[in-house]
Amino acid sequence: PPTRGSAVRDAFLSFFRDRHGHRLVPSASVRPRGDPSLLFVNAGMNQFKPIFLGTVDPRSEMAGFRRVANSQKCVRAGGRHNDLEDVGRDLSHHTFFEMLGNWAFGGEYFKEEACSMAWELLTQVYGIPEDRLWVSYFGGDPKAGLDPDLESRDIWLSLGVPVNRVLSFGPQENFWEMGDTGPCGPCTEIHYDLAGGMGAPQLVELWNLVFMQHNREANGSLQPLPQRHVDTGMGLERLVAVLQGRHSTYDTDLFSPLLHAIHEGCGAPPYLGRVGAADEGHTDTAYRVVADHIRTLSVCIADGVSPGMSGAPLVLRRILRRAVRFSMEVLRAPPGLLGSLVPVVVEILGDAYPELQRNSAQIARLVSEDEAAFLDSLQRGRRIIDRTLKRLGPSDLFPAEVAWSLSMAGDLGLPLDLVELMLAEKGVQLDSAGLAQLVEEEAQLRAYQAEPAQEQRLRLDVHALAELQHRGVPPTDDSPKYGYSL
Ligand code: ATP
Ligand code: MG
Ligand code: MG
Ligand code: MG
Repeated sequence: PPTRGSAVRDAFLSFFRDRHGHRLVPSASVRPRGDPSLLFVNAGMNQFKPIFLGTVDPRSEMAGFRRVANSQKCVRAGGRHNDLEDVGRDLSHHTFFEMLGNWAFGGEYFKEEACSMAWELLTQVYGIPEDRLWVSYFGGDPKAGLDPDLESRDIWLSLGVPVNRVLSFGPQENFWEMGDTGPCGPCTEIHYDLAGGMGAPQLVELWNLVFMQHNREANGSLQPLPQRHVDTGMGLERLVAVLQGRHSTYDTDLFSPLLHAIHEGCGAPPYLGRVGAADEGHTDTAYRVVADHIRTLSVCIADGVSPGMSGAPLVLRRILRRAVRFSMEVLRAPPGLLGSLVPVVVEILGDAYPELQRNSAQIARLVSEDEAAFLDSLQRGRRIIDRTLKRLGPSDLFPAEVAWSLSMAGDLGLPLDLVELMLAEKGVQLDSAGLAQLVEEEAQLRAYQAEPAQEQRLRLDVHALAELQHRGVPPTDDSPKYGYSL
């Protein structure tokens, strides 16, 4: 069986093409095209949304799709699927990952074929022992009027999965939704037991098979889709970890060259894979954050999303700054480390996603520039803090407005938690109540800016406008321009 990352990816694609007649389609860009419900592409199915909704242009190539498979670049760092805070802390969540998927549109095949193909691939092609696999199915949701998916349960039993490894869960786990709106449906999932009989089972989710049947409307209701479809997704990094006999996605050839390069670049102690309390000093967490984030930055920039001031670019900027902080504060990295990792990412992923190769110089340049800008902001922030401290009495709180002006929405763009850290280092307390107030006002303004223009026009008042101008809140693409008036 294949074990190297690229061989595992290839084996998935050729299995569906050669054994089961699927057409292979390229990964879509991570930048959602014409879909304001998403910040980033978060699943393989995103590009097929028009097929699910029945809105596909009949003249387009997609209109002819019946069974397809691909490996999709996914980013889960905002919106409904946001794993940013888990990255570094655990051994299985990334902000960027590759999702291997197969689809059957319009009833081309349904539950039975989907489950048996998945089982065949995992156990025969990849050679995963059957007794390490567990499955789950949708146990229903009486409140939403959704029945349990007993059909999927029976299919697994007929494929030979023992009844004690077939579990049912509610909508939280086994009803998949793309975003707050969009196609959705019950799902059945395949999990792998890392413990393998040594103590209690330790399950990691490998593959999700979704049976698309509904659309979640803006008012929260579920409407039936015109047709039923199969939509599956399996995380390549997790699969590769299983096939390489590892408990962690970081201990695979998809990550180890990066961890090695970080080690060389920082002179920090080597990566040891510890998590939680065992990772004293957060060294291993920092390694994971940096390795994860540089992949995300590289892939996003190659697809035309660069760090910036609002929406997805702002998320990317936060990701970059998070990586810079972990690398400098924990690993004592020299300036420029992040940019130097770009060629390693390109080496690992460039064959599968040639846009990385084509754009590698540009990616390294943008990463280095944004890192330098951040370091510059840090220095200026320290000077502002020192100047402010000079005019404070010994028991004064640090003024919320100054902290605010150092933060994201202000000029310097330093994350608030970092500002708090910098103040703690100086032994001064921040006016947290005042700051909370400012943050709350900002949230209201942002929610207001995100509303459709039509509703804004009704509600826009001169006070709000003055407030926006006063704060210098940067306009987003779809927010009213400054000076917009009744
Ligand atoms: P989890 O419960 O582990 O967060 P999920 O249920 O959110 O995963 P799905 O939306 O079902 O994930 O996505 C399909 C597959 O993609 C998962 O079974 C998993 O293998 C993989 N996957 C999901 N999120 C991530 C991530 N953040 N990093 C790496 N792989 C992921
Ligand atoms: Mg998840
Ligand atoms: Mg899950
Ligand atoms: Mg899942």
